[in-house]
Amino acid sequence: MDYLKFLGTAGARVVVFKQLRASGGLWLELKGTRIHIDPGPGALVRALSSRPKLDPTKLDAIILTHRHLDHSADANVMIEAMTEGGRRKRGVLFSPKDALEDDPVVLKYVREYLEGIDVLQEGGEYRIGEISFSTPLRHRHPVETYGLLIEGRVALVADTFFVPELIEAYKGAEILVINVVRAGERDERIEHLTLGDARELIEGIKPKKAVLTHFGMTVLRAKPWEVAQRFSEETGCEVIAARDGMVLEL
Ligand SMILES: [Zn+2]
Repeated sequence: MDYLKFLGTAGARVVVFKQLRASGGLWLELKGTRIHIDPGPGALVRALSSRPKLDPTKLDAIILTHRHLDHSADANVMIEAMTEGGRRKRGVLFSPKDALEDDPVVLKYVREYLEGIDVLQEGGEYRIGEISFSTPLRHRHPVETYGLLIEGRVALVADTFFVPELIEAYKGAEILVINVVRAGERDERIEHLTLGDARELIEGIKPKKAVLTHFGMTVLRAKPWEVAQRFSEETGCEVIAARDGMVLEL
């Protein structure tokens, strides 16, 4: 089965560091290729305690959309797990350059365990196993950040301030996963999407299905499942709010 499993739906500091929601990132299995995206705090524990268990030694790749800790804290742990502590050189890491250079989030000694490291850049196209993905746009976020368009049909809109270019970048996506951290008005100083931005993306991109995730405190207080229901009625597109452990069939 092709699926995306939410090993966490927490976003931003309070929800992640109080673990009001889990923060293990996303586990993708598509055409037999397995990728762990954004292994935040607890990623390994969430994978292994998942039912059925998700086995890190079966991963083909790890992708970091950006270096913030809620997306990368378990990157080293997952690389060790994927490579059996470096006993088997395998797997590829995809990461922005700034996560690897000054003040890196990936330790140098674990990099040796990998088959390769591919640096993400705007407009980049990548292949891993049986699947291809692209990083159409550098997002507006305090660190180098990319969203993903997988097989041209599954879009993961990573952390970003709203810019209209997002709509063009992810056009054609049938499934649109949106990291929506905030409720309330847009604020230039906080470079994250709001619920209103998520709705604008859904209306612009018109996917078959949209999934809201990566919730900050203000979104949790707004009851994302109710917001999703309302967006479904207002946009005519099926919108759901992710839950920890949720499996989305692709
Ligand atoms: Zn971030």
